[in-house]
Amino acid sequence: MLYIVPTPIGNLKDITLRALEALKSADLIVCEDTRQTQKLLKAYEIQKPLLSLHEHSGLGRVREITAHLSEGKSVALVSDGGTPLVSDPGFELLREVIRGKINFEVLPGPCALITAFAASGLATDTFSFYGFLPQRFAARKKFLASLEPREETLIFYESPYRLRQTLEDMKTVFGEREAVVARELTKKFEEISRGYLSELAAKFSSKKVRGEIVILTAGKGRKELFH
Ligand code: SAM
Repeated sequence: MLYIVPTPIGNLKDITLRALEALKSADLIVCEDTRQTQKLLKAYEIQKPLLSLHEHSGLGRVREITAHLSEGKSVALVSDGGTPLVSDPGFELLREVIRGKINFEVLPGPCALITAFAASGLATDTFSFYGFLPQRFAARKKFLASLEPREETLIFYESPYRLRQTLEDMKTVFGEREAVVARELTKKFEEISRGYLSELAAKFSSKKVRGEIVILTAGKGRKELFH
């Protein structure tokens, strides 16, 4: 059995009883960065063999894991934080597991986009999630332009180094709209900033931004909520 196990996105207490059970009973834990996962396991006094799986691992590693599963071993898949497969490795593995008719279970748990969405104060009736935007200037603008007419709340992951530029690009392409920057969710320096795109771009241009970030923007033509 493969267990897909969400882990905390900051606060180490955000782990479910089922997640701990799956980690404790696993024969093998497949993770992104073994050092990161060791920190979590140490906090919960769990000792297990670890095997890394990241975007460059290749099909060989995936087959190695499915071989363990076929031998009847229990394998837990985690990422560095949050729900595996959501902008994180695991897609190839799950595809092989589905093709091989191997049993798997996905445990619900922490996920940055859902936490940010619920905290945002933006419309929660519908949303779209786009993960990380393209890094190249032209590709990012083109992609944002394709989203301009969308009426639902839009959610993106972003690096702190590109935050200001992305907010400015969004202002240029979308025009003025309400948006939210959710930074360091569940952590000591959690900060949720709401305002027009231009207000947020100004706020984050004047200081060095650190930490993990989710950007959310209102959909086109949505009623203003913060002004
Ligand atoms: N699988 C993860 C999940 O379920 O949220 C996401 C993994 S993705 C590689 C990492 C990105 O998620 C970060 O760059 C950031 O955009 C967002 N993120 C993760 N933890 C966060 C946090 N505590 N606060 C804000 N954003 C976070």
